[in-house]
Amino acid sequence: MDPANISKVKQLLSDKDQPIAIITHTNPDGDALGSSLGMYGFLLLSGFTNLRVITPNTYPSFLRWIPWQEKIIIADQNPEAARKILSGASIIFCLDFNGMGRVNGLENSLRQSSGTKILIDHHPQPTGEFDLMFSETRVSSTAELIYDLIAALGGENMIDRRVAECLYAGIVTDTGSFSYACNEPKTYEIAARLIALGVDAEHLHRLIYDTYSVNRMRLLGFCLSERLKVLPQQGAAYISLSAADLERFNHQEGDTEGVVNYAMSIENIHLAALFIEKDDHIKISFRSAGKVDVNLLARNYFNGGGHRNAAGGKYFENLMETTKRFENILRNGQV
Ligand code: 5GP
Ligand code: MN
Repeated sequence: MDPANISKVKQLLSDKDQPIAIITHTNPDGDALGSSLGMYGFLLLSGFTNLRVITPNTYPSFLRWIPWQEKIIIADQNPEAARKILSGASIIFCLDFNGMGRVNGLENSLRQSSGTKILIDHHPQPTGEFDLMFSETRVSSTAELIYDLIAALGGENMIDRRVAECLYAGIVTDTGSFSYACNEPKTYEIAARLIALGVDAEHLHRLIYDTYSVNRMRLLGFCLSERLKVLPQQGAAYISLSAADLERFNHQEGDTEGVVNYAMSIENIHLAALFIEKDDHIKISFRSAGKVDVNLLARNYFNGGGHRNAAGGKYFENLMETTKRFENILRNGQV
């Protein structure tokens, strides 16, 4: 991490009673929540007295164990409170996203706040709208960057078991339990330190991955047996789910998390997509292996973005039109 930036953060953090906000991206995942609550815990244990964590909307149920979740202000349930926090904050930590458009309804409040905006993130192509940026695309997760930041601030002794659990959750979910974005030895060194600090890795794995509801498990089975389409010529596979499909399995927030990865597990498939019908758009998840760049695919054709091998987007047509567009893009070799 850039030492000049670290000194600036140290300076900015000299007043322990100033209002500090931590915000993450919409549809927060394990890394969004883990990095935000890890940062929250670190600052809390370091003596900061006026801390707030905001998520634009709610988070999946497999994260309902994460320390300090009760402190989160969920903006779409409490928009006025979230806006007030942002406008009154002197520092805003912006974690796990690369542009202000990623906080949905809070975009204007974030932009207009006079607070110093500090970006800490690992997505490519961050926008230049932040006052201070720690943007490193080679790291596994934002949680790993938060560990680095804490260490650079000389605060490693402030990482207790709870902070460690938050950061571990971020690393483990953004690497699919150490199966992608996991080729750097340092990721494992940090994970090892977090385990030494009290993380029960086996237990957290069960909490995150092995607490499916029966409906969620049946929905997964349905996706694979009834809704999976394979395009062998293109080395691609996708799953599409209508609102009626979701209703049939009493869909809850987070139930489709990870479904797209199953399509990636098929032999010779290097690009996978999941299309989900929402009220006024189709929500899309993309995954790829190696050099296939789904960040570009999402940016260029589906109003989104993300990482080279994991990205998402939206499309404002029906499910059929959206998947047709996807198939055409692949057939035309535009990926
Ligand atoms: P997921 O498929 O799990 O929803 O998202 C995969 C990755 O793409 C995550 O890193 C997420 O932050 C990013 N992502 C998902 N949706 C969008 C989007 O609409 N815009 C941008 N810029 N990134 C997205
Ligand atoms: Mn992340």
